[in-house]
Amino acid sequence: MSDDVAIDRALQPGDLLHCPHCRHWHALTGNPTAEHEYVRAMLFFECRNGRYFAGTIGGRSSYAVKRAAGLEERREVINGKTSV
Ligand SMILES: [Zn+2]
Repeated sequence: MSDDVAIDRALQPGDLLHCPHCRHWHALTGNPTAEHEYVRAMLFFECRNGRYFAGTIGGRSSYAVKRAAGLEERREVINGKTSV
């Protein structure tokens, strides 16, 4: 599989972001328990004890992002069962 290929798709929690600081991949984390919806939509990544804004859920990042292994399979199953 080619899971090391950068993608340009809507951001989701758990996606891996190509870090502009250390050039490693960091998982995106959200704020699922935040009170306000716009805060819950924010995604961050952590590097060198810092926390950086990556983008919003469903939006785009200015950095290279890839789907974490496993999440993509689950996403396909969900899409397969969802018929609008
Ligand atoms: Zn980093």
